[in-house]
Amino acid sequence: MVTFLAGGTGTPKLLRGSASVFPPADTPVVCNTGDDVELSGVLVCPDVDTVLFSEGGLLDRETWWGIDGDSTETHEAVHRLADDAGLDTGPRYLSADAQTAGREISRHRRFSGVAEFMRLGDRDRAVHVTRTGLIDEGRTLTAATATLAEALALDRPVLPMSDDPVATIVHTSEGAMHFQEYWVGHRAGPDVDRVEFRGAADADPTDAVLDALDSPVVVGPSNPITSVGPMLAMDRFRTALESTPVVAVSPFVEDQVFSGPAAKLLAASGYAPSTEGVADAYPFADAFVLDTDDGTDLERPVVRTDTELGTPEAGERVCRAVREALERVGAEGP
Ligand code: GDP
Repeated sequence: MVTFLAGGTGTPKLLRGSASVFPPADTPVVCNTGDDVELSGVLVCPDVDTVLFSEGGLLDRETWWGIDGDSTETHEAVHRLADDAGLDTGPRYLSADAQTAGREISRHRRFSGVAEFMRLGDRDRAVHVTRTGLIDEGRTLTAATATLAEALALDRPVLPMSDDPVATIVHTSEGAMHFQEYWVGHRAGPDVDRVEFRGAADADPTDAVLDALDSPVVVGPSNPITSVGPMLAMDRFRTALESTPVVAVSPFVEDQVFSGPAAKLLAASGYAPSTEGVADAYPFADAFVLDTDDGTDLERPVVRTDTELGTPEAGERVCRAVREALERVGAEGP
């Protein structure tokens, strides 16, 4: 068994085409939940859902979120009502009191549905309604995710990193805001002072995650701060990584990032915005997979290949490099 850690873009891309190297049933994916929000009354788990939709063959691969060909009738109607009522568009983060009221899992990530600031598709929303309903009936996020994975006929175990609330809060020049407000609402515009994982000190990885972390681990090419950071903010998660072989794939080619705000957030967290900074953020990683054009000199084993992902062939190629790196650090292959 080999366990992958995922955010919402890089690792799902890596997993596409991975089946011939890492059989899905023996390759669980642990997903970040720091980005999750409660919006329009439902719990939205962007990284979990990208993995579910990708593995289930439903993902919109233009955006790497949402369901391909989904309609947005409800979302548009919500916007029309807000416009007609003269209500400001969002993000509309609820009051401090409301953040700790309501569902425990939604703490510090509760947004009003007025003018819904994230574009939820209609079929996508059905997934959030079902997940939230299962949680309201008393199931954990882990159990609700397993039920959704079954409905989508997935072979692969998909594991939220925790059943406890951990909210990624970005402290910026325009104040502290939830990561989705910074990323979707402000398009990563404001300067960032630091990133906080609110709730992490009281959160634990689930038993299923701790079991999965007994196996060799692959950190896909993820945002080290907002996708892997919430996992590392939990003591037991970090300790588990320190005692198992870990291979990380860089989301950079030297200081060139493939996509997203990783460079800015690494810099704000005291790391170089480059492969070198990623390596510093991952002291537990035993080996790295870097791009052929990435000459970064790391004092740990490196396997190089073309790390541009996006097709099944590319995923397979990078997974072969990952397997070679695992072998170099003495981890048993699948
Ligand atoms: P998020 O949840 O959407 O922020 O996504 P992740 O944390 O999973 O992934 C974001 C990271 O994926 C970014 O830092 C990108 O640089 C990286 N990434 C995206 N596409 C590729 C690719 O084709 N190859 C590699 N190596 N990294 C990529």
